[in-house]
Amino acid sequence: MNLAELAREAQAELESLQSLRRELHQIPEFGLDLKQTKARLLAEIEHLGQIVHGKTLDSMVLHIEGAQPGPTVLLRADMDALKVVEESGESFSSTNGFMHACGHDLHMAIGVGAARLLHRHRDKLRGNVDIWFQPGEEGHGGADVMIEEGALTAFAEKPIAAFGIHVFSTLDNGVFASRPGPLMASAGDMLVTFKGVGGHGSMPWLAKDPITPMLEAMNSIPALVTKHFSAFDPVIVNIGWVRAGDTATTNVVPSEASFGATVRTFSDANFKQIRVALEELMRTTAKAHDVDVDVVFTPSSFVVNNDKAAVARAEKLVVEAFGEDRYINMPQPIAGGEDFASILREVPGAFIFLGALADGESPETAQSNHSNKARFDDSVIGDGAALLAALAFDVLGE
Ligand SMILES: [Zn+2]
Repeated sequence: MNLAELAREAQAELESLQSLRRELHQIPEFGLDLKQTKARLLAEIEHLGQIVHGKTLDSMVLHIEGAQPGPTVLLRADMDALKVVEESGESFSSTNGFMHACGHDLHMAIGVGAARLLHRHRDKLRGNVDIWFQPGEEGHGGADVMIEEGALTAFAEKPIAAFGIHVFSTLDNGVFASRPGPLMASAGDMLVTFKGVGGHGSMPWLAKDPITPMLEAMNSIPALVTKHFSAFDPVIVNIGWVRAGDTATTNVVPSEASFGATVRTFSDANFKQIRVALEELMRTTAKAHDVDVDVVFTPSSFVVNNDKAAVARAEKLVVEAFGEDRYINMPQPIAGGEDFASILREVPGAFIFLGALADGESPETAQSNHSNKARFDDSVIGDGAALLAALAFDVLGE
């Protein structure tokens, strides 16, 4: 089955996939527990193959067995929403304080669409397809929990290839984009608390002020990054919050001061080095001011590292079926994080972006993913589903 044929078929049931997406959009759920979302999806996929359910999270692996034996291809759709109050203006907006502002509702519909196509043509499949419906992508480690629970070998041997699609509200409608190698950053948090000794603001020399060393250390971060890390292998450290003292008083030296920063890198070497360097900076600065410091790095996503051959395969399929102007070979990665990276550390594959620019918007002015005003054109679901199915056919052969 080639991509053009599959896309025509997917187009024929676009309406039902769009209405599924809009239903899911109205029941957004957060994190690893997605009871309603899972129940709605289960009704769509239970007749399409065997299903293994997650133990500690609401995940599902749908196993579609081909008529002929062969290896397994993994396709992944994430399921969770963000804690954002929706103001998109869509008629099917959510009202429960959460929002599918990252388009994972489209991803689920794409996963269901791919499942239908693969199930319908399973007589031509030389191998199997496992479709992962994965909770907790937005910083909850959902992919890692599924891997720990054994989802990679839920039915058979470890898959030989993995593919995932992510929609963007600011990318031209229907355009696919990706690149070999690093596609997205590794992202994690650094949480720092300087611990001094509180006292009277009139006599700071009798106390141990934690604010001064914290500011010094914070101000040294940009220099640490530019002087110790190559400009051609970027490191991003951005402070997102700062806390110290109480706004009701200026005459108190607080005993603690703390801040949190996001830390993003694009290579395994920098992932390790920046953590060592930041911790050292915090410790030496604290020591110089005779205070203590706690430095915690939260579990981080890895770099989304695309397999060269897998990306080339996706590019070839898209260009052959839809034309050259439907594929962008991205010159550089983006700094967002994504736990599909954990899957790509186990199975070679590709993560591919898909433009879902809403009607009447332009890429320059459209609200981005994660905005509470983001709108996505769900007419791209058919082509997304067709590409995932086509990739499975292409890898397994007919
Ligand atoms: Zn997302």
